[in-house]
Amino acid sequence: MTELSLTCYICNHCQNTFSEPADICSKCGTREPLSRMNLPTRGRIVTFTTVWRGAQYLPRPYVLAVVEFANKYQVLGRVSGGGSIAVKQEVRYMGKDEYGYLFELAG
Ligand SMILES: [Zn+2]
Repeated sequence: MTELSLTCYICNHCQNTFSEPADICSKCGTREPLSRMNLPTRGRIVTFTTVWRGAQYLPRPYVLAVVEFANKYQVLGRVSGGGSIAVKQEVRYMGKDEYGYLFELAG
C-alpha cells in the first residue's frame, strides 16, 4: 500500500469528476485543464456486496463497495473491518494495493 490519500480531477465549469486527467470534459466539453483535488480520507458506502466466489488471490469472503466522497466522486473498493456493513455507513480510506482501493469501517 502506497497512497495516503485519493485524488480525482474536477472540471471547473460543471464540477464533473474524473479518475484521470483528461484533455476535454466529457460532460460539458470544455478544454480547460481539470483541477486535481485531494479527497477526504472518509467516504460513505453507496452500495456493497459480499464476494464469496471470485478472485482466488484474495481471501474470501470479502466486501466490495462503491464509496462516495463529499463531492460525489465514487470509487469501487474492498472494505475490511468486520461487523455489520450498511449503506451510508462511513468508511476510511486505507490505501491501495495491486487489486484496488482499500477501506475500513470508520468508528
Ligand atoms: Zn465539465
